[in-house]
Amino acid sequence: MDHLDTLAIHADADLKDGSDVAPPIHVSTTFAASEEPGARIYAREGTTTRERLEAVLGALEGGHAITYASGQAASFAALLLLKPERVAFVRGGYHGTRALLHAMKHVGVEMVDLDAPLREGDVLWIETPENPTCVVHDVAAHAARAHAAGAKLVVDSTFATPVLQQPLALGADLVMHSMTKFLSGHSDALGGALVTKDMAVARELRAMRTTFGAVPGALEAWLVLRGLRTLGLRVRRQSETATTLAGWLAGKVPRVWHPSLPEHPGHEVAKRQMRGFGAMLAIELDREEDARTFPARLRLFRDATSLGGVESLAEWRRKHDASAPPGLVRISVGVEEPADLIADLAQALGH
Ligand code: PLP
Repeated sequence: MDHLDTLAIHADADLKDGSDVAPPIHVSTTFAASEEPGARIYAREGTTTRERLEAVLGALEGGHAITYASGQAASFAALLLLKPERVAFVRGGYHGTRALLHAMKHVGVEMVDLDAPLREGDVLWIETPENPTCVVHDVAAHAARAHAAGAKLVVDSTFATPVLQQPLALGADLVMHSMTKFLSGHSDALGGALVTKDMAVARELRAMRTTFGAVPGALEAWLVLRGLRTLGLRVRRQSETATTLAGWLAGKVPRVWHPSLPEHPGHEVAKRQMRGFGAMLAIELDREEDARTFPARLRLFRDATSLGGVESLAEWRRKHDASAPPGLVRISVGVEEPADLIADLAQALGH
């Protein structure tokens, strides 16, 4: 049982209760006192719903998963664990991660360029594919570079999910996810996760989470567990549709960013490192005004931020991220019929 789609359904089998086929939502925050070793005490430490989610996500990534109240809480936990003086971060990337690293300057964490020479104790933090132009970073090469210097590699794998890449197998020390995106997959649950191969690190992260308290709620843990059951089906379909859309858009707009396109700078690394090119893409239009109004001209794609849900979304990225190119529209591809999405793009572009 090592295929991802089978693990997604069965990796939590040992934690099943009685004859339930679907997992129940455990809402109790406290548990009757017991002398049994390992008996539950209080929900911040652990609940069966959360542990089932972590069993499945850990199996999909090939490590031990620790889940949090949001992706940002997971990133913060990684920084608390690693306590770096310096973090080398990608040039683009999720603006919230950049803001978090920037805020950490108050506790002595310096953010440096991705290619800065690394020192012992540094953290190299990559996002791949990277927000919003889907730059693809070579995980194995960055892991070798980090480890040669005595640094650690954190990979934000939110855009890829374990369906398309498994960074731990490529040498990453920690994988980070916003579970809010593809893992939950239905735009209805906030959550985050860290995954490590190292049992001692997992234990330390769990103990720190109990102290700091950023646990996912019972409903959120259950929703993400439910989302994981269909992760492979959704992400493969979304990634294939994004590849179809990118191919259709190429030549019709001034620039298309998707790793499936041979002219995309990450194409070769993506072919080697990923099992599909991802469900995120971006287009650039010549005029800022056109990009700003483009999402509202679409009928099936909703004009909204976030990504990874079953519904397609499009947003003028400048609205949320001042560093995005002015003509850039970011697209998260859902599970709709590709021909319908193409027809919608065609009418919005006036084709
Ligand atoms: N990492 C990436 C790549 C993201 O896109 C996001 C959210 O958009 C996050 C991290 C933060 O996750 P959350 O919104 O769940 O805190």
